[in-house]
Amino acid sequence: MIQMIHYCDPERCIACSSCVLACKVGHEIPVGVARRRVFTMYEGLPGETSFSLACQHCVEPYCLPVCPVGAITKRADGIVQTDKEKCISCRMCLDACPFGIPAFLEQEDGTISPQEKCTYCAGGPNCEDFSEKEKELYGQNRIAEGKPPLCASMCSTKALMSGESAVIKDILLQRETRRNKMREQEAPR
Ligand code: SF4
Ligand code: SF4
Ligand code: SF4
Repeated sequence: MIQMIHYCDPERCIACSSCVLACKVGHEIPVGVARRRVFTMYEGLPGETSFSLACQHCVEPYCLPVCPVGAITKRADGIVQTDKEKCISCRMCLDACPFGIPAFLEQEDGTISPQEKCTYCAGGPNCEDFSEKEKELYGQNRIAEGKPPLCASMCSTKALMSGESAVIKDILLQRETRRNKMREQEAPR
């Protein structure tokens, strides 16, 4: 089974927010809402660590079964999509998500926008690929073009990676092996 994932390597993230900006600009996300955010822990203290977070496209998404109108689906490649035309903005998905990912925006007329979250740059459901409707509701569809997600492409330190879980796990294993070797070489004898 294919499972597309994002992973942000905290040992490489420099909290530059290029990923956040690439997503916002590339998909024309309105002010006040974001599909990706960068978090920093222990800011200014020893052990300061940053990482970038968006929808994890969970293997078993908690948000999916709670949606009362069946707006959330999981594709065969693991990407979790929300149909914005079905969404009734009830925010049950936000309550269910362990990462607090689904975002909603109060609009000028006082109504709440449909759920906004990472589309994995794969457009959205019930739209023809590259159609005006898809672009307006979900932004770019880079996956159908054979391109990687915008956020990971923009990460200069390659902290943020997107792709098949088996490939990402392999890269992380290689990085960890290299880091362990370096730690061993640097350790006082
Ligand atoms: S919204 Fe939350 S629960 Fe749903 S797939 Fe994304 S990270 Fe998982
Ligand atoms: S806010 Fe929309 S996507 Fe989320 S549970 Fe409600 S109807 Fe479903
Ligand atoms: S994969 Fe695409 S939609 Fe998701 S956070 Fe990255 S740029 Fe935004």
